[in-house]
Amino acid sequence: MKMGKILIASFMLALNVYVAGNTKEPYKDGTYSIVVSGHNKDIKIDTTFKGNSIVKIEAKHEETKGLGDTAINQTIKTIIEKQSTDIDTISGATVSSKALLDGVKETESMAKGESKKLVDIFKTGTYTSTVTGHNGEMTVKVDFSTDKIKDIKVDHVESNGIGTAAIDIIVSEVLNNQSLAVDSVSGATVTSNALIMGINNCVEQTGISKEVLRKPIAVPKKNEKAIQKTVDVIIIGAGGSGFAAATEVVENGGTVIILEKNEYIGGNTARAGGTLNAPDPERQSKIGVEDSVELFYKNTMEAGDNKSNPELVKVFSENALAARKWLSAHGTKWTENVYQTIGGLWPRSMDEKDKVAYNGFIEPLEKIVLDKGGDIILNCKAEEILTGADGKVIGVKAVDTRNGQVYELTAIKGVIIATGGYGANQEMVKKFNNVEGLPTSNAPTSTGDGIEMAVKIGAATEGTEYIQIHPHGNPMTGGLQSHFAGVIKNSIYVNKEGKRFTEESGRRDTISEDTIKQTGQVMYSIFDSKGGFYAGVLKLKNKEDLINKKYLYEADTLEELAKKAGLDAKGLTATVSHYNKLVESGKDTDFEKDELEQKIETGPFYCVPLSPTIHHTMGGIKINTDAQVINNSGKIIKNLYAAGEVTGGIHGTNRIGGNALTDCVVFGRIAGKRVMGIKE
Ligand SMILES: Cc1cc2nc3c(=O)[nH]c(=O)nc-3n(C[C@H](O)[C@H](O)[C@H](O)COP(=O)(O)OP(=O)(O)OC[C@H]3O[C@@H](n4cnc5c(N)ncnc54)[C@H](O)[C@@H]3O)c2cc1C
Repeated sequence: MKMGKILIASFMLALNVYVAGNTKEPYKDGTYSIVVSGHNKDIKIDTTFKGNSIVKIEAKHEETKGLGDTAINQTIKTIIEKQSTDIDTISGATVSSKALLDGVKETESMAKGESKKLVDIFKTGTYTSTVTGHNGEMTVKVDFSTDKIKDIKVDHVESNGIGTAAIDIIVSEVLNNQSLAVDSVSGATVTSNALIMGINNCVEQTGISKEVLRKPIAVPKKNEKAIQKTVDVIIIGAGGSGFAAATEVVENGGTVIILEKNEYIGGNTARAGGTLNAPDPERQSKIGVEDSVELFYKNTMEAGDNKSNPELVKVFSENALAARKWLSAHGTKWTENVYQTIGGLWPRSMDEKDKVAYNGFIEPLEKIVLDKGGDIILNCKAEEILTGADGKVIGVKAVDTRNGQVYELTAIKGVIIATGGYGANQEMVKKFNNVEGLPTSNAPTSTGDGIEMAVKIGAATEGTEYIQIHPHGNPMTGGLQSHFAGVIKNSIYVNKEGKRFTEESGRRDTISEDTIKQTGQVMYSIFDSKGGFYAGVLKLKNKEDLINKKYLYEADTLEELAKKAGLDAKGLTATVSHYNKLVESGKDTDFEKDELEQKIETGPFYCVPLSPTIHHTMGGIKINTDAQVINNSGKIIKNLYAAGEVTGGIHGTNRIGGNALTDCVVFGRIAGKRVMGIKE
């Protein structure tokens, strides 16, 4: 009986829909919106109908200037003049003008109350599409009920923190808005585009027109007035240093707001492999390595060509081990291995268990901060540090990046700037370092905002002329690929001719400078199955995907490897056989690599092409050992602190690999404690 009623109701609905689709009603006053695909990107169209006329058409688009945009303007003008969408497209820019025209027709149907699109009732069921994500295959399953997308499930191997954030954001936007007009998530474009394609593929399988699902994504409503909040501490930036500071604040009884301009937390820290340096004689003695705070201090000063602030480096070195232990106590898990990372210059690096800093440096600290009442505001960009009459910092003005909502936030105890570096800001890189045209491994959010805001209120800077160009960049994308580039002591770097040209255990800047002089500015890391990746060849989950993308080559012989990777085979085999003799002798008389563990002789053999990429900005806001910001007259700016990559003075001309995360935790913690008035 019940089933019969449902069937009749469905039939009546379909009938109503069919009848409505054929009725020509006058326009109902209002503004109707739709998103259509243009030539370059999506076009958002708002058409306003009043008194049975089309009175206004607004199109937000990124069509080509002088071509697509002229066609759009012309099409809008003609529709309004003729009060009709029955017009021709504009030749020479047909895609743009047709997209606009189709979109306005859709809004016309909406204004007429025509629900013809509803006749395209979804075929119920679950549809599947397999696409290629950032790290490998992604299977998207979309579950449709008769009138909506009910659920989306994604099986994937994307990175925790970045890939997973993009998936969550896109899935919830599609479901909440019942729309496919979603944008890719910044910093996770490959994952986003793959997922959007997968969802589109599933919709296509239902047989309905995808245009039904092109409603604009709702933007949260903006208040007329600024949102005002007062807390003890405002932290700008939800990366490693921001979370270290926030954890100290909440654990010491303070209230905190973290402002994050991105749609998700983590910043560059979420991209890091989680390698952290600390002298830890207890662990290092097990592998026969001697270390001490003094040696760590000496190495850090010397690696930065003694251009660092010795007082800051002293505090940094003395607190490094405590920082690692503090992380462990707060949930970070480590691999047992102590080793020398690329540009690490001494075997004192430890890795987060999965080589994913997000898992150890962000996720557990975020949980603590939230559990203790901390507030994290996403999509919220700090634009100005507010000062009182005496120059004391009193708060932050910020803006919601989606709708321009203004926030006026008061900080009773202080503000901590933890906005990261400026490696993704080409203009700043050119201005400070005179470097142009190189890709970057950084998150797109690393744009130096904190430096600019602090300088505006008189902060001094230190070492902004020093930037790190990492030799382990992907030649195609600039992304960092140290995690599969080979273990230094068991790999060699060769050029296209198959010859070694640099000391593999040397400084990152030297290796990069040497690489820039080689054919195509590319070097090739060569290693065998015993030397392996950091993760171990067999444990590298996405090996096949890396091979498909030509980020990694694998072959049973060196000759075959050279052929696949485009290297000189004779050059490579001669170099490896000579290198193996050096390993036997225990001394690298050619380039003085400081550790030679194994020969390269057991296939399969591997090759990873690598080229320089902008990686770290060593300079930034000048701070003292209490993480207080110093002004141009050498005095502290009251109630203003800074920590992490936004600061200068710790790494001099060249940051040691693995020292940045130590810096974030050491000075993030200090900032968090000092702002709460805790001085050990
Ligand atoms: C690919 C990669 C791998 C790395 N691996 C390692 C490693 O293994 N070991 C190591 O020691 N170092 C590593 N580094 C360097 C290290 O990760 C960074 O130096 C460190 O994470 C910086 O942390 P942070 O907290 O200072 O800044 P971030 O982690 O970048 O956080 C800054 C946050 O501030 C936000 N923000 C910026 N401006 C504003 C604003 N105006 N308003 C609100 N929010 C804002 C950003 O969106 C971001 O979320 C790596 C770097 C990269 C790029």
